[in-house]
Amino acid sequence: MNEEKAVVLEADGLTKHFPVRRKGRAALTGPRRSVQAVDDVSLKLRRGHVTALVGESGSGKSTVARLLAQLHQRTSGDIRLHGESVKVKGGRPFRAYVRKVQMIFQDPFASLNPVHTVRYHLTRALKIHGNAGNNAKELEEALHALLLRVQLTPPERYVDKFPHELSGGQRQRVAIARALGADPEALLADEPVSMLDVSIRLGVLNLLRDLKERLHLAILYITHDIASARYFADDTLVMYAGRMVEGGDSETVTQHPAHPYTQLLIDSAPDPDRLGVDGVGSGSTPKDSAGGEPPSLIDPPTGCRFHPRCPKVMARCSTELPPRFDVGDGEGHWAACWLFDGEVHAS
Ligand code: SF4
Repeated sequence: MNEEKAVVLEADGLTKHFPVRRKGRAALTGPRRSVQAVDDVSLKLRRGHVTALVGESGSGKSTVARLLAQLHQRTSGDIRLHGESVKVKGGRPFRAYVRKVQMIFQDPFASLNPVHTVRYHLTRALKIHGNAGNNAKELEEALHALLLRVQLTPPERYVDKFPHELSGGQRQRVAIARALGADPEALLADEPVSMLDVSIRLGVLNLLRDLKERLHLAILYITHDIASARYFADDTLVMYAGRMVEGGDSETVTQHPAHPYTQLLIDSAPDPDRLGVDGVGSGSTPKDSAGGEPPSLIDPPTGCRFHPRCPKVMARCSTELPPRFDVGDGEGHWAACWLFDGEVHAS
């Protein structure tokens, strides 16, 4: 298959600035300010492929997922499903988009209504998206098929339970089943295991991997835990302060990180080699090992946004925004860092 044809969902130059509410006199006289949460983000999600989007909290990675899910309106940039731009909220094309692009949230308890059973949640998803069959028997079969697909077996044991009667891992499986009720092509999983016990994280990630392989879903896996990205994702993208800073296949990015920020994330991550034994690590933010905090996104640093914290900072870093440079050690491995400016190295 032509590789470009395998792209399900892509974003180009995706940007989101949230206006800051001004109070008192400042509302009349002060300058208009905004939180520059996401700036110029481009990515491609491919059929049967997991792409991890990694960064510490506040890096903008969840906002990217919400923009792709059309839960936020973008400030600028383009989102394309199978090459077709998705322009507006509402109308038939938008409903078709929502059916094909489903989101899984971090907290499965908050995303399920506590007064309704698993049957209610799944039936609603099947009916909204026209997958409930033509009669009660077909609906029951569809419900059981969804529960089997997320490995909640036997289905009769779970279908009439309320969320509080399920474990965290089982609730997240119900949330995944509900997303599958739409028969999607892309899943946007926003920290899908970070609120689960360490012992059951691996099971949920293995389920998502199974769905990727059996249903050929394109999956965006949002996480702060770069060790789990190596374990679970085919490709890894790294975000810092609203911008993409590195990307490539997961093995290369995690074993040979090029951008100083990615190196920092790796240094402060749990040992990835323990993943297969202990389950997916809890992850950590890199501030402990690096010193410093992520910058304010109301007034982000000029040039490279990482320059106030970067151990390899150079003069141009504080004034010039680095574009993506080819790192040259693996197919498609790039870093937005002046260290990889071939012209400077050649001179
Ligand atoms: Fe560090 Fe400069 Fe590279 Fe930014 S561009 S990561 S400040 S070396």
